[in-house]
Amino acid sequence: MTKRQNLLTIAEERLIGVPKPLEQLSKSELQRKQSIGKVMTHVLKYLTEEFVKDGFEWLLPVIFSKSTDPLWPDPEASIDKRVEIEIYGEIVRANLSMIVQKMVASSLIHPKLFTLSPNIRIEKAERANTGIHAYEFTQLDFEMSDATSDEVRSFVERVLVGLIRHLRDNVREDLTYLHRYNGLTVPKTPFKIYDRKELEKSYGKAWEKRLLKEIKHPVWITNIPREFYDFEDFESGTWDNYDLLLPKYGEALSGGRREWEYKKIVKKMERDKVKKENYRILLQLAKEGKLQPSAGAGLGVERLVAWIVGAKHIGETQPFPRVPGLVYDL
Ligand code: ASP
Ligand code: MG
Repeated sequence: MTKRQNLLTIAEERLIGVPKPLEQLSKSELQRKQSIGKVMTHVLKYLTEEFVKDGFEWLLPVIFSKSTDPLWPDPEASIDKRVEIEIYGEIVRANLSMIVQKMVASSLIHPKLFTLSPNIRIEKAERANTGIHAYEFTQLDFEMSDATSDEVRSFVERVLVGLIRHLRDNVREDLTYLHRYNGLTVPKTPFKIYDRKELEKSYGKAWEKRLLKEIKHPVWITNIPREFYDFEDFESGTWDNYDLLLPKYGEALSGGRREWEYKKIVKKMERDKVKKENYRILLQLAKEGKLQPSAGAGLGVERLVAWIVGAKHIGETQPFPRVPGLVYDL
């Protein structure tokens, strides 16, 4: 058996519950997919409109660049392969997230910006059945110059509450068909905030699993050690960042206040063994004092919609499912 066949067998063995490709869906499965598609359309329309109304500029995404998110160190990341290719004699990387572009563009041109960005994260095949991982997904990735974490969190809460209200009013039939109309209640604000360190103290390392079973509404987790770009207070050892957790589905948004000081960024990159040469422009701007303090977040569109519609697998929200370990024709 070749390595590829072997991988496919491993994936297929775990395929119970994994979404089928479009051309294999039965009539009723197609109907379900149609309803999910309709919810997706309303979600995208509502969110982009709210961002534009709030003064954000809408940027088109990039796919290949020299600088992308290192996704390291991130306790949640499980990347099987980093896609790097040569074009025009230069090495470029498939977008893991547009964090670097967001930091640069919010500093230089648009103080408030968002993009619907394709993220290519070749997850390990064993994540096929987690139900919440896809090897390509879309982030509604946004950044706000000079903002605080509190401001970002309140903005997200306001938009999410408005979204759920809007969906209950505008896609009631589809939500009912998907058996989600009654369960999808408008969350109360402010959402509860948990400190990751406190959770570890009371629940141990597996705190997330425990918490996801308990919560009935979206909650925030703060103070999560991860990539160089999130703000870390070296003195207290705390991180000014956040994740939004959705009941059963887990993290659907992550973000933070950002680092902007050259020396601190360099120190963190060296500590984490992140290659400085892959962040030339970011570092140059920071050194020249042109990188501005900002805060922002990336919202996983498919995960959000998976929670809204009660999907069995996040791939159900994608017209062409990107299930880890499983490459369909389309
Ligand atoms: N785009 C970032 C990520 O994928 C989220 C953020 O911090 O804005 O982790
Ligand atoms: Mg991140």
